Amino acid sequence: MAFGDSPSDYDYTIWDTNGKRGMKDGKEYPISEERWLLWHKDHKDSGCTECNFVQDKETLFVYLVSRDLKEKATFKPLFFRKFTMTGWTGHSGFYLFKCKSCHRVSIDYPHGYTSCGLMFLSCDNCQEKLPLEVIKDKTIYEREGAFIPVARSFRKNVWNVGLTLLAILTFGIFLFRILS
Ligand SMILES: [Zn+2]
Ligand SMILES: [Zn+2]
Repeated sequence: MAFGDSPSDYDYTIWDTNGKRGMKDGKEYPISEERWLLWHKDHKDSGCTECNFVQDKETLFVYLVSRDLKEKATFKPLFFRKFTMTGWTGHSGFYLFKCKSCHRVSIDYPHGYTSCGLMFLSCDNCQEKLPLEVIKDKTIYEREGAFIPVARSFRKNVWNVGLTLLAILTFGIFLFRILS
């Protein structure tokens, strides 16, 4: 592969009034339109049949969610449908819920992560974060599975810490036996 065949050849890429360029060690290299599109392909152009494209969250909430469904919204997030937006490289489930703080109904996709390592939905009215509980909202984590690497690596970390402690303990007992 020649230099410039992959986006990773550059430190970063820019697109502004001067055109599309890749930066490497402080030097600029022009990037062709064709190549730029190939590297920055939106999920909406992938032909995915699982999701629909929506302009923004407001359009979704105002025009696509029925009044009936909005009236039925509770504190428990209700799965609506999967959508993708401009610039997204994947799709996400969107959930309708009533905010525990201001009681207004919002729709949002799970964001990561609260300080406790949980994903959350954010209220459009008061910006209150509604954490998604790993047990109670398990189906949400499962549905969004591909997009929650942190939840998995969190579990892996617990394992790693556990195994390290076990190793230290075993070594400690071993030393104790030899020395005593
Ligand atoms: Zn999709
Ligand atoms: Zn709110």
